Amino acid sequence: MHIVHIASEFAPFAKVGGLGDALLGLTKAFQKNNHQIQLLLPKYAFLDYEELGATPYQPGVLTTLYHNVNLFFIETPGHFEEDTIYTGDERDALRFTSFTRYALKFLLSQNKRIDILHLHDWHTALAAPLVKLKLKNHKIGAVALNIHNLCYQGECDKSLLKEFPFKKPNLLKEGINYSDAVIFVSPNYSKEVLTEEYAFGLLRTLKKNEKKLYGILNGIDHEMWSPENDPALAVNYSNKDSLKKIIEAKQKNKELAQKELGLTKTKAPLVSCITRLVQQKGPKLIEKGLLFALEKGAQCVLLGSSPDKSMQRHFENLAKKYKDNPNIHFHFKFNDQLSRLLYAASDFTVMPSQFEPCGITQLIALRYGSIPIVRKTGGLKDTVFDLDDSDIPNDLKNGFLFTSYSSKAFNQAIHRALKAYNDDKTHVLIKQGMDRDYSWKKSALQYLDVYEKILK
Ligand code: ADP
Repeated sequence: MHIVHIASEFAPFAKVGGLGDALLGLTKAFQKNNHQIQLLLPKYAFLDYEELGATPYQPGVLTTLYHNVNLFFIETPGHFEEDTIYTGDERDALRFTSFTRYALKFLLSQNKRIDILHLHDWHTALAAPLVKLKLKNHKIGAVALNIHNLCYQGECDKSLLKEFPFKKPNLLKEGINYSDAVIFVSPNYSKEVLTEEYAFGLLRTLKKNEKKLYGILNGIDHEMWSPENDPALAVNYSNKDSLKKIIEAKQKNKELAQKELGLTKTKAPLVSCITRLVQQKGPKLIEKGLLFALEKGAQCVLLGSSPDKSMQRHFENLAKKYKDNPNIHFHFKFNDQLSRLLYAASDFTVMPSQFEPCGITQLIALRYGSIPIVRKTGGLKDTVFDLDDSDIPNDLKNGFLFTSYSSKAFNQAIHRALKAYNDDKTHVLIKQGMDRDYSWKKSALQYLDVYEKILK
């Protein structure tokens, strides 16, 4: 099949969160199965195209082969000069609708048959109504839209979509209406979005389109996230090693993290939180939970960056308050290297999300033997299974869950986790988490099923 993705992120060089990881994993998995994959991205000014080996393809388009994925960087005149992927304000709608238009123009100029045009989130959703309502004689078989996060919808000014009669344009909504398949990134989230609480105002649209909704779990790219080869670690390890060896390697990584972050050298459990600091991720619960864990004798690290200035300031003030405490550390940057060391070093990774379409963080944590303590929502519910849940087969158990979105419930889960750690009951969870295959293999096949279905 010839599959073309249009998206705003691609890991590791144009990544803000899980969207970038998902694009890398999904395109690589398909490339391996001999499909023809192209990914169109904006030509961001902050990228070093020489380093990426990109060469001119045609005026306004650069191309490179990255892990065998054909990437195209589409110039969008007047836009993407900033040093970030998103500006986070009203400019984004203009930036990404302009990019989507240029990307489609480029595809049409190639005049080749495309089986699947695959769009991602509101940023590129406009391509669906454009293809279905405005383009004549195109050679596109079907349009798929992936929703990585329903909360961001791209509500924009009418002037950006002059050719459509939409009264109050919402890019994601029109993407849902005009795509042949709408794919959410976990089975559980694809059901949750059909409730008022999770639909973010799109319940009617989603119900109307219910027949074309799917839920396919994101994987993680096993080459990109591999404790066996990761150069950021002090000592490498893998699920093929004995549990003893894994524990020893994790201890060495813990020592390196403690040294690098100025934490006390101790064997106390290390709890890490690696996250965008936004409402979705449960910032209040994170704050209270980490302080609770600290009080119970754990060490804690928060690696979090926030697009929200007041949120960032709040956490910076908290960091100031604890700056002389050698058992808690705050780091407010996006730092891939440090995240890798923390996944390897930590005993627990917390994610008290209010909602979570899939969550990549817990999948990486599982692979690096850091036990997830997460809220039972979205993709977290599909991937984390509680040690104390008697309905779950023992060999599936890999973490700790809580249900109610409250500090009390979260802290209770932390308490259970720390107690299990002290009682030596968590080792088995490390191994089972590492053994489970959360690669893209299975998910890629499910995507293929959807593609085949909508092509018919
Ligand atoms: P989301 O996409 O909603 O942010 P996910 O859990 O799906 O959440 O993906 C988050 C990804 O971003 C993971 O790969 C995680 O390791 C990474 N990440 C989040 N914050 C940081 C940070 N401050 N530094 C480095 N990596 C981060």
